[in-house]
Amino acid sequence: MTKFVFVTGGVVSSLGKGIAASSIGTLLKSRGLQVSLQKLDPYLNVDPGTMSPYQHGEVYVTDDGAETDLDVGHYERFLHVSMGKANSVTAGQIYDAIIQKERRGDYLGRTVQVIPHVTDEIKARMLAPTRRQQVDVAIVEIGGTVGDIESLPFLEAIRQMRLEYTRLNTMFVHVTLVPHLGAAREIKTKPTQHSVKELREIGIQPDILLCRCEVPLPQEVKEKIGLFCNVSTESVIEAIDVSSIYEVPLAFHRGGLDQLIVQTLHIEAGPPDLRAWQAFSDRMRAARETVTIAVVGKYTHLRDAYKSIQEAITHGGVANGVNVKVEWVESERVELDGAEALLAGAHGILIPGGFGERGIEGMVQAARFARDRKIPFLGICLGMQCAVIDFARHVAKLENADSSEFHAGTPHPVIDLLPDQHGVDKKGGTMRLGAYTCAIENGSRAREAYGVATVAERHRHRYEFNNAYRERLEAAGLQVTGLYPEKSLVEIVEFPDHPWFVGVQFHPELRSRPSDPHPLFRGFVRATNAERTRREGGGAPSPPDRAPSATRA
Ligand code: GLN
Repeated sequence: MTKFVFVTGGVVSSLGKGIAASSIGTLLKSRGLQVSLQKLDPYLNVDPGTMSPYQHGEVYVTDDGAETDLDVGHYERFLHVSMGKANSVTAGQIYDAIIQKERRGDYLGRTVQVIPHVTDEIKARMLAPTRRQQVDVAIVEIGGTVGDIESLPFLEAIRQMRLEYTRLNTMFVHVTLVPHLGAAREIKTKPTQHSVKELREIGIQPDILLCRCEVPLPQEVKEKIGLFCNVSTESVIEAIDVSSIYEVPLAFHRGGLDQLIVQTLHIEAGPPDLRAWQAFSDRMRAARETVTIAVVGKYTHLRDAYKSIQEAITHGGVANGVNVKVEWVESERVELDGAEALLAGAHGILIPGGFGERGIEGMVQAARFARDRKIPFLGICLGMQCAVIDFARHVAKLENADSSEFHAGTPHPVIDLLPDQHGVDKKGGTMRLGAYTCAIENGSRAREAYGVATVAERHRHRYEFNNAYRERLEAAGLQVTGLYPEKSLVEIVEFPDHPWFVGVQFHPELRSRPSDPHPLFRGFVRATNAERTRREGGGAPSPPDRAPSATRA
């Protein structure tokens, strides 16, 4: 019999509910239990794929090609599993399914209503992961903040779950904020009281309060929160700010969270084995040297847009025993101030994925700077495309070479629409999405990093290296080192005449895990660390490459 843990959030958004749910999952898994995790988002978009990063942050793509909430990324990283469509559910999907049923006549004669039809559909989605495999504990995170109109059907559905599955099999964890007012030097419990009051009004009494706080919560504060919110003092758990998200499971364990959950749900489970998490944390703290990586993108003021990139860099740093300082560089600033001013200090340059024309020239300049100065470079999706554009323009001398995404009339569309994207006019879920195989060339940097000849990586794009230019670009010195064999799509490009320059059409950051850092991020950080050592040994950044490979070819 599956037990359910429902995670809700109160007071403000961005409290780290996803990290909390992931950490609960990690702790239960470390006690030998089978765990599933699922995010239910109350917005009406069918998936976040059509939302701007300003609205939503990163769109996380799974192996099966679902465009999901970035919390699914945390689930995968913390639990070291691959998830899929069923792990990310939106109100848009729920209503879409109901309206299709209504049109088919499935409800014939009845009025279709939020209760029971919408709530039934939500409950069916929550049960789906437990039907496919044996799950001891299903953790369900409800997106949004208690009090939002959109969340109500979801909260009603979990209220019904308690009724149907009883107190023994369901549990409500509420993540809330307990602010510390600096001026008054006081910890304030009122926002938490209000949030819990709101939950109780709709029939949900939380079992555990996870209290986000900047300072430790004294015993009397926990007692007060417990009293006013109708939970025992032990169930008020401090979730104090920690230096890294990977410390959270360890901190929750010290606060007694996993013990409380297994006790309340009467689960028989062994003691947790958190050695791998402790080792990761120890390695992270032990790092002494710091490398600097500049990430040149267009949403750099908005960290959630590059969540998985940041995490994969962290994993790569720990794998190499170094701290990584990420400098977020707005690509439009590169256009204004020049690459030299903004990027010369970096030991590595990374250009992440993105869409649209704004800031592209800054990214092309950044790729050129990395190529010229022989600074380690990782280009991801759009970043790879910008590297190809730079190479085509400045080495292969294809004047005004561009991607047809940014310049429809370019004389040299070195990046062009994927053949099967012609005629696609619907925007939702129509890109090349999900995992595809990639065959890697022997002797390449990518092959060295991966250590194997075939990999599967996740994609999210409409444009692609134009094979009509492959010969000319290869003759000029560009190396195609990864291909999707079935359609000969170019997946990886490199410049052999460079310490470490790799561009990939896929998104390696989506498969990096703390316990299993992505090979390309491990290799990239290793190369940046070599660049740091070289510079510290007195070597200046390399001078511009005066003899481009084109003249040598
Ligand atoms: N805009 C580019 C494309 O659609 C790159 C996409 C991306 O970086 N994810 O091909």
